[in-house]
Amino acid sequence: MTISTNQYQYGDSNREQPQLAEVMAELDNLKKQSERLDLANKLHARMAGVLSLTGMIEAYSVWLMPLVNHELIGYNNTSRQKRHLFCSGHGPQRRSAIAFAEQIIDDKSTVIGSFVKRDGRFAYKWVFETTDDEGILLILKKGHELLSSEMDLVNDSLEILAECLRRGLEYEDLCEKASNDALTGLSNRRVFDERIQAMMAGAKRYNHPLSMISMDLDKFKAINDNLGHQAGDHVLIAVADVFKKVVRSTDLLVRMGGDEFLIVLDRTDRESARILAERLCVAIDLLDIWANDTTKLGISIGLSEMEDGEALQHWLERTDDMLYHAKAKGRAQVSVD
Ligand code: GH3
Ligand code: MG
Repeated sequence: MTISTNQYQYGDSNREQPQLAEVMAELDNLKKQSERLDLANKLHARMAGVLSLTGMIEAYSVWLMPLVNHELIGYNNTSRQKRHLFCSGHGPQRRSAIAFAEQIIDDKSTVIGSFVKRDGRFAYKWVFETTDDEGILLILKKGHELLSSEMDLVNDSLEILAECLRRGLEYEDLCEKASNDALTGLSNRRVFDERIQAMMAGAKRYNHPLSMISMDLDKFKAINDNLGHQAGDHVLIAVADVFKKVVRSTDLLVRMGGDEFLIVLDRTDRESARILAERLCVAIDLLDIWANDTTKLGISIGLSEMEDGEALQHWLERTDDMLYHAKAKGRAQVSVD
């Protein structure tokens, strides 16, 4: 009784109702804000410590999965030539999802903000306006369209994702700079140091042959002296292009410095490596580069196959000795240990 009396003291029910509705709406609003903040924090937490773009796309997919049951998350950046697709499915499902995603990413006519439907799949594309070059986020969903609440959720997450992806792009740029020789685009000595032990261990474990060819251009200084340093640079680029054409993705090709290059040939014995090295000698000769009327650019090559239980330093020295022999015997030739 007292309570109802008190209520009437604050005005009639017609005036109270809107106030209550406002308070409830405000509460609801605060609750939603807090939920959004919670989700944003969880996304930040997932992304913290992840440096690679692949890792970020995977982390984003894991964060989104309980909120939007998607099939695939894709990221594409055309100008930086980056494409990462993370698909939760397996087997044929996975292959068809990836094929669909690739088509949608490449299809420039797909309208951003709308979706494309095919075989029960829905594809959505977002563009990151915060990055200076165009980044695209793609979400594939099975069964039904994204609900408007799901759409809001993705939209809310874009700013955080864009910020992380920018960090990922910077990280990958720096890694490439640290691993690649700026002039020729070949891997540098640092990559050699990083990969060689794993290649040697793999060859030992599976009993595969591993061969190394060490190369140094002949009379290269004469090119610089007679044609200029810039012409010398162009020669190094042309020579590197010759090497790039012969190596397989499992081989290791590096510019060790100056006019010195090295290739570690995976699953290749001494004899097969010798055939390839001879071909390289011919290919450099066919470039037909002359420092002057009498001095033609050539290449000297030292070759050896890794021996059982051999340490890296010993193997490098053996190969280097062969290169020394090739030079000493008159250059433009291959010496095999
Ligand atoms: P050799 O036949 O005995 O190998 O003699 P070479 O004239 O080829 O001289 P060497 O291999 O001893 O030295 C390589 C030279 O390559 C030294 C350096 O001036 C030059 N060089 C190193 N890096 C670069 C580069 O990035 N660009 C250009 N243009 N020249 C370079
Ligand atoms: Mg040289």
